[in-house]
Amino acid sequence: MQIPGSPLLEVNHLHTSFFTFSGEVQAVRDVSFRAHRGEIVGVVGESGSGKSVTFLSVTRLLSASGKIVGGEVRFDGENVLAMSHMQLRKLRNQGIGMVFQEPMTSLNPTMQIGVQIVERIRAFNKGISNQQARAQAVRLLESVRIPEAKNQLKAYPYELSGGMRQRVMFAIAIATGPKLLIADEPTTALDVTIQSQILKLIRSLRNDTNVCIILITHDLGVVAETCERVIVMYGGMIMEEGLVDEIFYETAHPYTIGLRKSIPNINQLGGDRLYSVPGSPPNLLNPPQGCPFYARCDQAMRICKQHRPPYYQLSPTHRSMCWLLDPDYPGRGGGR
Ligand code: SF4
Repeated sequence: MQIPGSPLLEVNHLHTSFFTFSGEVQAVRDVSFRAHRGEIVGVVGESGSGKSVTFLSVTRLLSASGKIVGGEVRFDGENVLAMSHMQLRKLRNQGIGMVFQEPMTSLNPTMQIGVQIVERIRAFNKGISNQQARAQAVRLLESVRIPEAKNQLKAYPYELSGGMRQRVMFAIAIATGPKLLIADEPTTALDVTIQSQILKLIRSLRNDTNVCIILITHDLGVVAETCERVIVMYGGMIMEEGLVDEIFYETAHPYTIGLRKSIPNINQLGGDRLYSVPGSPPNLLNPPQGCPFYARCDQAMRICKQHRPPYYQLSPTHRSMCWLLDPDYPGRGGGR
């Protein structure tokens, strides 16, 4: 994918597995992509598609059974997979900020939010006084559009709404000025009005600070209004990657077409059922030899079962992995 400028994050042929009693679960398989300063990249896919595991691998925050078994991750030119504990700590605290789906599991329910933000600021800025850190905490809460920020410092997490708690999580994540912000399903637990406010906040944070934002979501509708580029994942692999307009108006992969069809349409007639891609994701204990989407694809051909398709470059910014894109392939149109 050709995007001008050197990438902030570069992932090359990443493979991550979980070693369980049942065997090796190949959660991420040969994933490569780039992300640049100042862009918002959406990573879309169903549960189990490998999107969260990819970014837990990038930050090396995998659980004990998870292991990166191949590939390369570079952040700001540094090899993340070769970093020491001290370097990783610095990376997670100052290089990369993270926001998760449910803020109540990340915030300490027994501490005022002001104390939690001040702790975060002072942990990475030893020379700053408590008073200066509190002033900075107010500025951070203002930057995430929390009204009466100074008064809210004394609030406990349970006193805030879900949307306000998520804003606090963004404030904590940007407290140390990260270059990359990973937001994993930040709007999933919120109603649509609050969801729209959080997406607006994500865009304004990028505009204000030029931070690169990775927005992980299962909802293609969320990326449509927020992101410049989209990566579509399925079965631990990237199925399609492109600019948001390419993904929506020049959709190349049958799985992306299915995701697009499953976005609720305001013009849909009352009795119409919402579309969902039939079937279930592949078992990554024993991943399919050919195309990961074969079992659920209504356009599958004989070749798809046996051979994994390569990536076809459809434009400098758009690529997809599907045999349908190869006009010369002799097995094309052969039926299942
Ligand atoms: Fe469907 Fe074959 Fe394309 Fe896979 S490669 S998405 S099975 S047509």
